[in-house]
Amino acid sequence: MSPLPTGATVGIIGGGQLGRMLALAAARFGYRVVVLEPGPDCPAAQVANEHLVAPYDDPDALATLAERCHVVTYEFENVPLAAARTLATKVVLRPGPEALRVAQDRLVEKEFLRSIGLGTASYAPISRADDVGPVLGAIGRPCIVKTRRLGYDGKGQLRLDEASRVPGDLYRHLGGVPLIAEGFVDFVCEISVITARSVDGDIRSFTPAANEHRDGILRRSVVPADVSPATLEAAAAAGAALVEALDYVGVLGLELFVLDDGSILANEFAPRVHNSGHWTELVCPSDQFEQHVRAVTGHPLGDPTSAPCEMVNLIGDELGGWTELVASGDWRVHLYGKGEVRPDRKMGHATRRLP
Ligand code: AMP
Repeated sequence: MSPLPTGATVGIIGGGQLGRMLALAAARFGYRVVVLEPGPDCPAAQVANEHLVAPYDDPDALATLAERCHVVTYEFENVPLAAARTLATKVVLRPGPEALRVAQDRLVEKEFLRSIGLGTASYAPISRADDVGPVLGAIGRPCIVKTRRLGYDGKGQLRLDEASRVPGDLYRHLGGVPLIAEGFVDFVCEISVITARSVDGDIRSFTPAANEHRDGILRRSVVPADVSPATLEAAAAAGAALVEALDYVGVLGLELFVLDDGSILANEFAPRVHNSGHWTELVCPSDQFEQHVRAVTGHPLGDPTSAPCEMVNLIGDELGGWTELVASGDWRVHLYGKGEVRPDRKMGHATRRLP
């Protein structure tokens, strides 16, 4: 298939900052962008040609999206699976629904990661309140109990140390939904690799970043991650194995734990552009957003070569410091156009080169 011509229309499900940056990248190739997002005045719609204000699974809105667009993609992993499957019968959806199916359930995801030869934390499902005692006994302490679905930025998780008392109603406490217990990984650092796969199967990864989290939210990414060349290579190989196994088209972010012997365990992946790849816009000839647009519109992948740099998220009130960052001249600032500042809300990010 030849690449989509300029002037063609790309649909994006989800209207957050990732959709916004995808829309900006699509616009650089002259594509028109339609965003499907129920929230009014969302970050992506501010820079798109059209905004369908409707739930992600609204049949009429999905029909309109399929009609108006030459290809549709998504900026978050919780697109309702049935809606994605229906949409994929009407319009080219990249990445396809399979990546969503796997990424939406932590248990399915861990099983998939292991099935392609990647190591993970030990884990076991908790399907009802009666499972809590036996499963925690088998997994041991410390451990983390997570909801299988719909967790993000550390939400829906409970860490249990040696001494923590298990809440009597742990199952209900986490919403009375299916859970997964994971053995706690004693990692030396967390890294991520952003990998792209094109329509014809070419695979390219960006240099893995080291990621620092606070309260479950990414605060800072540093590139390259300060790990051995062998670990950097293993991370890229893991990303490549994953996109290949999913027959994936687009950009995917894989989060990994690095152990003290340099080996890696896979934590989770996001079938989309990733917060830990925002630095690519500063230093890479093709950043992650352009790479995703290239992949889903049928172009060859671009050059992911990187240089040392860091990215910090501007979260909540940290937004207030943005003019100073701009004035400093060292930082490139990218704000998301979100009207309301909330304590845990990602309002923007800033990137700078490192020596
Ligand atoms: P997640 O939502 O799975 O990405 O978890 C959020 C953060 O919690 C991760 O980035 C880690 O810092 C930490 N975490 C999650 N799972 C584990 C684990 N099994 N062992 C150690 N730390 C974990």
